[in-house]
Amino acid sequence: MQQKQLLDLTETFGNPLYVYDADKIEYQYQRLNNAFKVEKLRINYAMKALSNVSILKLLKNLGSGLDTVSIQEVHLGLHAGFTPDKIIFTPNGVSFEEIEEVAKLGVQINIDNLSILEHFGTKYPKVPVCIRINPHVMAGGNANISVGHIDSKFGISIYQIPHVLRIVANTKMNINGIHMHTGSDILDIEVFLYASEILFDTAKQFADLEFLDFGSGFKVPYKKDDIETNIEELGEKLTKRFLAFEKEYGRELTLAFEPGKFLVSEAGYFLAKVNVVKQTTSTVFAGIDSGFNHLIRPMFYGSQHSIENISNPKGKERFYTVVGYICETDTFANNLKIAEIQEGDTLCFKNAGAYCFSMASNYNSRFKPAEVLWKNNKGHLIREHETLNDLLQNQIMIDL
Ligand SMILES: *Cc1c(COP(=O)(O)O)cnc(C)c1O
Repeated sequence: MQQKQLLDLTETFGNPLYVYDADKIEYQYQRLNNAFKVEKLRINYAMKALSNVSILKLLKNLGSGLDTVSIQEVHLGLHAGFTPDKIIFTPNGVSFEEIEEVAKLGVQINIDNLSILEHFGTKYPKVPVCIRINPHVMAGGNANISVGHIDSKFGISIYQIPHVLRIVANTKMNINGIHMHTGSDILDIEVFLYASEILFDTAKQFADLEFLDFGSGFKVPYKKDDIETNIEELGEKLTKRFLAFEKEYGRELTLAFEPGKFLVSEAGYFLAKVNVVKQTTSTVFAGIDSGFNHLIRPMFYGSQHSIENISNPKGKERFYTVVGYICETDTFANNLKIAEIQEGDTLCFKNAGAYCFSMASNYNSRFKPAEVLWKNNKGHLIREHETLNDLLQNQIMIDL
C-alpha cells in the first residue's frame, strides 16, 4: 500500500489504527497454493495470528481452511462461515471437556498428549483423531516460539509412538492424520525437511491416514535484507518427497499446512500519531499515542518492526528511539533511522498483521484500536474503536 493511502485512512478512521491489505493476503495464499503441486493440498489459516471475522471470511473465500487453538476460535470460524469440516482444532493443555465439545461440532481434532488420547479413544473410538507428534527438532526463531525441542510442552514425543500404537490398538480408535509444528520462524529448509522425514517415518506406522499436516513456522522478512523462508524451493522439495511417500504408503493423502504469519504479517500496517518528541542528554525519543497494549511483539519477542514517518517521508533521516505511553518502559525501537519527526506526525509500523492486534489488551485502561481492511482500493472498517462502554461492559460495581 502507498503511504498516502495509509495517511488518508487515519484521517477517515482516526488513530491509532490497524490496516490490512487484502491483496497481499491473497498474494501470499496463492504463493503457498502454487508452491506445493500435489493433488490434495489443504491450507489451514492459523487464526490466532489475526482473528477478525472479516479476515477469516476473506481467507474462507480464497478456499482456505482454519487452524484453531481454542473453542472460542472455533466459534468465530463458524460465525465467519467456515463449515466444521474445514476446521482443525490443535489445542495444547486444554480440558477434555473442551476437546469433546469441539469434536461434537464436527471439527477435526488434533491431540497432543497420551492421557487425553487414551481417554478420548476409549470414549469415542469412531471419531477420527489426528495426532500431534513432537519430532524434537529445533527449528524456531527463538525460545518462546520454538516448540519442537526435547523439553517442549507441545506434541507427543516420537519416542512414545510405541505407547500411542498400544492405545490405538486397545481402543480401536481411528487415527486419520499425523501433525507436527516445529515452531515459528523457520530459517533453514533443510531442517524442515529433516523434521518431515520423522513425520513420514511416524506416518508409516498408521494404516488409515487421510492427511499429513506439516504445521507452519514460515518466516517472513521484517526488515531490509532479512531472511525469508524460500517457500517455492521448499514446495519443490517437499512435493517430490511427499509424492514418493504416497506411493510407498499406497494411498493418496492430503498435504496440509497451517500458516499464520506467512499469510497475514506483511499485509498489516499499524499507524500511530507522535505525541511528543523529547530530547534527553543522549537520546531523541518519539513518544507515540500507543504502547505495548496495542503492539507487544517488540517488547515480548524482541521483534523489530520497521517504522516509517509517513507524514514526512522525504524528510532528512535522524535517529529516534520510539516509545509508547504506557507507564512502564515500552520501547518499540532503539536508535532507528526515521525521516525527521514533528509532533503530530503519523508513524507506520510494518509487518503488523500477525500477532499484533490479536495480542492487544486494555492495559492502562486504553481502548483497543480500530481495524480497517483495504480492498478494491477502498478502506472498509472491520472493527470500531472502543469506547468507555467496552471497558465497563462486564464489570460489576457492588454496593459497598
Ligand atoms: C501458532 C501456530 C501456527 C502458526 O504459526 P506461524 O508462525 O504464525 O505460521 C501453526 N500451528 C500451530 C499449532 C500453532 O500453534
